[in-house]
Amino acid sequence: MIEFHNVEKYFGDFHALKNINLTIDKGEVVVIIGPSGSGKSTLLRSINGLNTISSGKLVINNFDIADKKTNMNKIRRDVGMVFQHFNLYANKSVLENVTLGPRLVLKENEEQSKKEAMDLLDLVGLADKAESLPSMLSGGQEQRVAIARSLAMKPQALLFDEPTSALDPEMIGDVLDVMKKVAHEGMTMVVVTHEMGFAQEVANRLIFMADGEVLEDDDTKSFFAHP
Ligand code: ADP
Ligand code: ADP
Repeated sequence: MIEFHNVEKYFGDFHALKNINLTIDKGEVVVIIGPSGSGKSTLLRSINGLNTISSGKLVINNFDIADKKTNMNKIRRDVGMVFQHFNLYANKSVLENVTLGPRLVLKENEEQSKKEAMDLLDLVGLADKAESLPSMLSGGQEQRVAIARSLAMKPQALLFDEPTSALDPEMIGDVLDVMKKVAHEGMTMVVVTHEMGFAQEVANRLIFMADGEVLEDDDTKSFFAHP
C-alpha cells in the first residue's frame, strides 16, 4: 500500500533521502531505525504529504502522489500520523479530542462519533478519562489519546514518528502496549523508534537508515539474527 520508487529528497543542497526503494504491504508493521538525522522522519512525512519529494515516484493506496487527480487530503485521512508531541486541544475534553475529526471531517453524527470514541478510549485504557482535560493527563496518557484520535479517523495505515521519545521512561511501556494492540488488530504501521524491544516483539520487518539511505531492510528475525 506504500511504494517508494527511486525517491530522492533535497532540502536545498542537502540530500536527505537517497534513492529510496521500498514497498510496504497492507498489514505490515515496519520499524525504521537509524541515527539522528538519517532521514527517518523525512521518509515518514513524505508518505502522508507533510514533505514533498524531489524526484522518483511515491504511490500510496495505488494513488501516485504526483498525479494531479490524487487527493492529498484523502491520503492524509487514509494514512494517519502520531507525532512525538501529541498536540491535543487543551481546552477540549479527551472525548471531544477524539470525536472532533470524525465529526468535522467524516461528518459522523454526535452519537456515532461518541460511541466509537468511547470504544477507542477503552482500547487505549482511558475510558475513565473521557471527560478530563488533557492537562489532567500524564504525557503517556496524552499520547494514548492521540493514538485513539488517529484511529477515530479510520485510517488504513498509521505512521508513528518517535511516539515515545518525549515521554518519561515509566510512561513508555503503556504507550508501546497500545501500539502493540493496534498492530495485533491488523493495522498497517510504520514506526520510527529507538525501542528495540518493541521492534523485536511487534515488527515483522526492520529498516535501518543512515545518511539518507536505506542500508538494511529485512524481516525482523533475520535482522536480529546477525550483529
Ligand atoms: P531523522 O528523523 O532520522 O532524525 P530527519 O528526517 O528529521 O532525520 O532529518 C534528516 C536530515 O534532513 C537532517 O539533517 C535534517 O537537519 C534535515 N532536514 C529535515 N527537515 C528539514 C527541513 N525542513 N529543511 C532543511 N533540512 C531538513
Ligand atoms: P472511503 O474512505 O470512503 O472508503 P475509498 O477509499 O473507498 O473511500 O475511496 C472512495 C473513492 O475515492 C474511490 O473511487 C477511490 O478510487 C477514490 N480515492 C481514494 N483515495 C483517493 C485519493 N487519495 N485521491 C483521489 N481519489 C481517491
